[in-house]
Amino acid sequence: MEKWQEIISKSITDSNALSKIFKIDKKKIDKVIGKYPMKINLYYLGLIKKRNDPIWRQCVPDEQEIRLGIGKKDPLLEEKYSPIKGLIHRYRNRVLLLTSNVCAGNCRFCTRKRKVGIEYAALQERDRIRAFRYVKKHRGIRDVIISGGDPLLLSDEKIEYYLENLRRIKHVQIIRIDSRTLCTLPQRITPNLCWIFKKYGPIYFNTHFNHVQEITKESRRAASLLADSGVVIGNQAVLLRGINDDVDALKQLFEGLLSMRIRPYYLYIPDAVQGTYHFRVSIAKALKFMRGLIGYTSGLAIPHLIVDLKHGGGKTPVLPKYIVRHEGRRYVFRNFEGKKFYYADIY
Ligand code: SF4
Repeated sequence: MEKWQEIISKSITDSNALSKIFKIDKKKIDKVIGKYPMKINLYYLGLIKKRNDPIWRQCVPDEQEIRLGIGKKDPLLEEKYSPIKGLIHRYRNRVLLLTSNVCAGNCRFCTRKRKVGIEYAALQERDRIRAFRYVKKHRGIRDVIISGGDPLLLSDEKIEYYLENLRRIKHVQIIRIDSRTLCTLPQRITPNLCWIFKKYGPIYFNTHFNHVQEITKESRRAASLLADSGVVIGNQAVLLRGINDDVDALKQLFEGLLSMRIRPYYLYIPDAVQGTYHFRVSIAKALKFMRGLIGYTSGLAIPHLIVDLKHGGGKTPVLPKYIVRHEGRRYVFRNFEGKKFYYADIY
């Protein structure tokens, strides 16, 4: 058994085990995990510094998950855009493959809360073959995202199998891997895995850090291994109330990521998913945070603020307004400090 598999095998999944480490109300935890399972691996658990800190809130069940009952199980209508099992085809030229239904931990804010850790529905061989056939048949698909759950919970052999088959399809130009393991289980990034990525590169790797407390010696080592193998790493963070809804927290996170060769790519406004409403942050507040970043840190450290519109409307950027007005080609801007500037556009 590899080290990462050993860490996963010892994950905390019930209130008894958790109560041996923290003083908790077991009954409350049991009520929540009856609906939304708990899984906290020992590496990630070790990042908790105190109760209710940003790590705790991301992984320890909270009564609010079952109290409110508002929101949709699948607000993005992923099921509707799934023509065959395990494949989502929402945008014309890209598809998402749901290769695994398990993760290195169950994040309490997860958009796929309806699936992750609940019913294990890993794709069977016949489903995988159908998925490859689908991609091959649809020549407009140039970008395939290997996602889940977390695809890196699959074995190296299975990952190589996906990459090998996708690389055989000529019109697939971009292969992306969506995995949170770089943050929640960096031990999963092994030299062998990186060798596979190098063999089938270029690989774009989207990971998911939400707080600077998640940046550790281990995650830095793992990011270096990936980057040295030619993997291009981006981060898709989610703006979460009580975790990172603070401009300094975001700045520290994004600057920290850049220092480990991870480019902040998206900052999501949380989706309207049932069981996650207590994490939601308003668009007005999110825009305020963006204003606190733009002009105050390197442009490289600033992700796109994104709202994934309900009913399959798609990922849409949310931008602070810098153009105050314009008449013809004469524009009036307010810069990041709020000062007014005039700008004459070209004819
Ligand atoms: S790693 Fe991603 S898919 Fe898995 S539970 Fe966390 S947010 Fe959801």
